[in-house]
Amino acid sequence: MSGFSSICLYGGASGAVPPSHLETARRLGQLCAERGLMVVFGGGRVGMMGALADGALEAGGEVIGIIPKHLEDVEVGHQGVTRLEVVDSMHVRKMRMFELSDAFCSLPGGLGTLDETFEIMTWRQLGLHDKPVFALDLEGYWAPLRSLLDHQATAGYVRPQHRDILQFVPNPEALMAALEAAEPGEVQGDKERF
Ligand code: AMP
Repeated sequence: MSGFSSICLYGGASGAVPPSHLETARRLGQLCAERGLMVVFGGGRVGMMGALADGALEAGGEVIGIIPKHLEDVEVGHQGVTRLEVVDSMHVRKMRMFELSDAFCSLPGGLGTLDETFEIMTWRQLGLHDKPVFALDLEGYWAPLRSLLDHQATAGYVRPQHRDILQFVPNPEALMAALEAAEPGEVQGDKERF
């Protein structure tokens, strides 16, 4: 797996989502485990987060959950993970997930998933890291996000090279293939703009 030993998986906490999405999240967890990729995630037992963690754990993978204190009960901290880190704030959570991960992938999710996705994209735009960032576009879930980024690029607010920071993949197998092909630093940050 070309130098990647861990991947951060962002995804929704809601359980009221298409069952096919939950099944695919579980399969993604399993594929990561089979390839020896440590999974870093938000630490919850519910929704897409819970499904991907369960899939990885069932396949014998290493899974690290990072959850802020105030969400431990609400999101039902996953007690079966290899390690559950309880941190003080959302900001610490996101920083810790960043530190532990060689690559990032957003599964379908809600507002929190968008926040996490945009933050990691923005950090790359600013040249703060060169780790690859993917979106798992299950059943076209992220099509509106793709359109939004195109719209922003067409209007000149997002540079073409930054439009491509987020790499869309249609399924877990394509994500694995993309990781195998990925080289760090394909998209350069833009420190000169400031
Ligand atoms: P959601 O996509 O809204 O279901 O949230 C997915 C995960 O993101 C959950 O673990 C949330 O706790 C987390 N989350 C929600 N809002 C934020 C935020 N503003 N910053 C970071 N993480 C968040």
